[in-house]
Amino acid sequence: MYEYSDNKKQANSWIRRDRKILLMHMQTPLQLLKSQFGYSEFRDNQEDIINHILEGKDVFVLMPTGGGKSLCYQIPALIFEGLTIVISPLIALMKDQVDALKLNGIKAAYLNSTISVEEKSNIFKLLNKNEIKLLYISPERLFSQNGEFLDYLKTLNVSLFAIDEAHCISQWGHDFRPEYRKLTQLKSNFLKTPVVALTATADSRTQTDILERLDLNSPRTFVSSFNRENIHYYIEPKQNSYDRLLDFLEEHPGDSGIIYCLSRKSTETLVDKLGQDYITAKSYHAGLTREERMKHQELFIKDDVRIMVATIAFGMGIDKSNVRFVVHMDLPKNIESYYQETGRAGRDGLKSDALLFYSYADVMKLKGFVEIEDNQEQSAIMLEKLNQMADFCNSKKCRRKYLLNYFGEEYPDQCGSCDICLDKHEKFDGTIIAQKALSAVVRLKEKFGINYVIDFLRGSDSKKIKSWHKELKTYGIGADLGKQEWHSHIRTLIDYDLLKLSEGEYPVLNLTDKSLGILQGTEKVMLIATKIRAKAKKAEIEYELELFEELKLIRRELAEEAVVPAYVIVADSTLIELAGYLPQNREELSKISGFGEVKIHKYGDIFLKTVDSYCTKKNLSSNIHLKKTKRTKQGTGIRPKSGDTHKETLGLFRSGKSIDEIMTIRNLKQFTIEGHLAQLILTDDVQVEELISSEKMATIQKAIDIHSDIALNPIKEALGDGYSYAEIRAVVNHLKKDKEVVAIDA
Ligand code: ADP
Ligand code: ZN
Repeated sequence: MYEYSDNKKQANSWIRRDRKILLMHMQTPLQLLKSQFGYSEFRDNQEDIINHILEGKDVFVLMPTGGGKSLCYQIPALIFEGLTIVISPLIALMKDQVDALKLNGIKAAYLNSTISVEEKSNIFKLLNKNEIKLLYISPERLFSQNGEFLDYLKTLNVSLFAIDEAHCISQWGHDFRPEYRKLTQLKSNFLKTPVVALTATADSRTQTDILERLDLNSPRTFVSSFNRENIHYYIEPKQNSYDRLLDFLEEHPGDSGIIYCLSRKSTETLVDKLGQDYITAKSYHAGLTREERMKHQELFIKDDVRIMVATIAFGMGIDKSNVRFVVHMDLPKNIESYYQETGRAGRDGLKSDALLFYSYADVMKLKGFVEIEDNQEQSAIMLEKLNQMADFCNSKKCRRKYLLNYFGEEYPDQCGSCDICLDKHEKFDGTIIAQKALSAVVRLKEKFGINYVIDFLRGSDSKKIKSWHKELKTYGIGADLGKQEWHSHIRTLIDYDLLKLSEGEYPVLNLTDKSLGILQGTEKVMLIATKIRAKAKKAEIEYELELFEELKLIRRELAEEAVVPAYVIVADSTLIELAGYLPQNREELSKISGFGEVKIHKYGDIFLKTVDSYCTKKNLSSNIHLKKTKRTKQGTGIRPKSGDTHKETLGLFRSGKSIDEIMTIRNLKQFTIEGHLAQLILTDDVQVEELISSEKMATIQKAIDIHSDIALNPIKEALGDGYSYAEIRAVVNHLKKDKEVVAIDA
């Protein structure tokens, strides 16, 4: 324990001299950022906020989800001599944050109903000895036992209070929690202790309310930009939304994501439907038991299940950093919720997609939901917020600009990465595409639905396409475009009244009066470039996909050992940097974002060894010199190497080499080669029959049916040792490919 001493005055200019602040750490915030968290620079306001807190002042922080609020109080907590109390509304968040801190060698704990009596008494012992730096608690706990706990805290040396999700205190906000109201008494109990209040969403009315209610002492407010550059926003009309969802998921193979639905029932229905399409998902809603919810959440967090279909009950406090997409099947109640829910994507800074299906019917439906009993005033606020949400969807203004303006921020440009911007910038002469689609409808005698027409256009070899259709000249004329692109173009053609859908349970595509002009070539049509596919960011260097996969496996083992989610060990972006910059020693490793001293000490050697043996095998050397010290604000700027590795395997396979031979030639592991071949089934380059006998295939298929699941683990367990993961994956991919052809037969 040190008192701030004269000889540090120079270096530690962030300490006000007129204040006697007892300091624990001699390191500056920046040094701590590096040594404890492994990051090389602060983001936006972080450093200013930290300095302010260190001066003992009250601070209000408005920063978007994923912006890095936690560090703003965690670093002061390490510098202050005493204890920092973090008040947070959700238990899941506490555990994750505390686990992550502990992995960085920081003494942290949480108190809530999930911990045992022994753990609790142990925590109190540590608290009494000033051996905990950060304690996470709920507001209820703070004021529990008639203020006894508060009195107890007064006997400790509390240096700082951090109030997370501070908007919960205000009824102007969208997530008012009555238990937060008690926090109005906090300041009067701890007159001299600085308070930092943090939130990711608050309009100006809510902001003022938070400051008043917390009675902060001439607080300084720090507002960070709410722009989440790496999230791309898409809003589409709610038509055939399930099919659209499948297309969307197809574009995100292997990615982790959240799909929000309005009701418990629609959540369950969607999970079932996806299951029938061989996509494993779990549900999360208030109708499940606590155990079920915990279990599903854990499966998702540990990447055992990649898709969570949830009501809004899910998410607050979910710190999973590699969520690649968020889909809203139904309309959120307000822009704050939309922003917060979509904000759960891409916390690691990598490109992520937010897709919302909008219909006016949803607005009508929600009108009933936003009424708050016995509170006319609040009902009116909620209704106004709902109308703004609808306006956001209907507006033709850049989505990002609209969102930022809503939160009081200027955004001068067009973002180029939302559906509106993309529409505007990417229209093209689509006459030929339209002619192809319309001729297909003519050839199919206006008797088939969209999916059939698309499969026909793309020349699908599915049995569902009638054999005489396969003889037609138009069959396969649209093979150059993907399913998703065809969907989008056909929808546009319907919007332009060049095609129409018949009424009834199985709508079929019909021509309209306007179709003839296109077919005869007298009219032109401008189409909108396909949505959902945004331009890739320019990358600095490429990373080794195979190494990345190996590193993921190792991370998984480490996570299982430590009983924490994988991303708590290190983020995906960190693994990508490892696989791109190929560090060869601890010093080089320390330049990788996310490796602080403790993590280097704990896990450095394991990861280095893997990188090293990969490099030896492939004759590669370190790329660390390419790493810019100034990391771009968001994203790693590294992209995967092109799919050449699959092609190389395919080439050898086609030349008659066995898997063993390919392994030797390519110097790769068996599971890697088998993985390539299984992947090649999806692209139709390899047929399942080439890899596995028909008996084995039948058995695996049966196991899949019984488990109505294509997660590999349960099937492998059921089948036992005679069947490898690769064989199971091959069959799963085969089934998946088959499933893609969903046709509506008239
Ligand atoms: P918030 O609470 O604002 O939603 P977090 O505090 O959870 O965000 O931070 C989001 C992610 O960004 C975390 O993985 C965190 O470790 C990381 N992070 C925060 N600050 C920095 C920084 N200065 N450099 C790199 N990564 C950072
Ligand atoms: Zn835009």
